[in-house]
Amino acid sequence: MATIFTKIINGEIPCYKIAENDSHIAFLDINPIAEGHTLVVPKKEIDYIFDLPDELLADTMLFAKKVAAGIDKALNPIRTGVIVEGLEVPHAHIHLVPIYKESQEVSLKRKVDVSENRMKELAKLISKAVEI
Ligand code: 5GP
Repeated sequence: MATIFTKIINGEIPCYKIAENDSHIAFLDINPIAEGHTLVVPKKEIDYIFDLPDELLADTMLFAKKVAAGIDKALNPIRTGVIVEGLEVPHAHIHLVPIYKESQEVSLKRKVDVSENRMKELAKLISKAVEI
């Protein structure tokens, strides 16, 4: 069965899209741990990130780098952190988490409330700043 991320890639379920090319997509995490928390997903459906072929793994990180540059430009965090866990959705992905202050707890267990309007606004701001 297709993963939830494949359904997003296929346009079967909506997302707050940040960027896309032939092989990758980035969209806001629906349960963010910080404003602008973004997921970078290779379109090829492979569960474990370290099972990606070398070239695709490298391309995924390079795509993430461009998206992170857009987050940094649009939202001006101290920096954008990276988390790879993959325990919930069996489709390899990288979490990009803007860090706004040194005391910010960067953990996938600490969700923050972000309104739908703000999610739309964040997606617009970041996607405008990303150069793929
Ligand atoms: P992980 O698999 O790395 O533990 O986390 C999966 C992430 O995907 C979670 O942070 C979760 O909030 C996010 N997620 C799960 N379902 C959806 C969805 O339908 N849309 C979006 N945008 N994010 C999702």
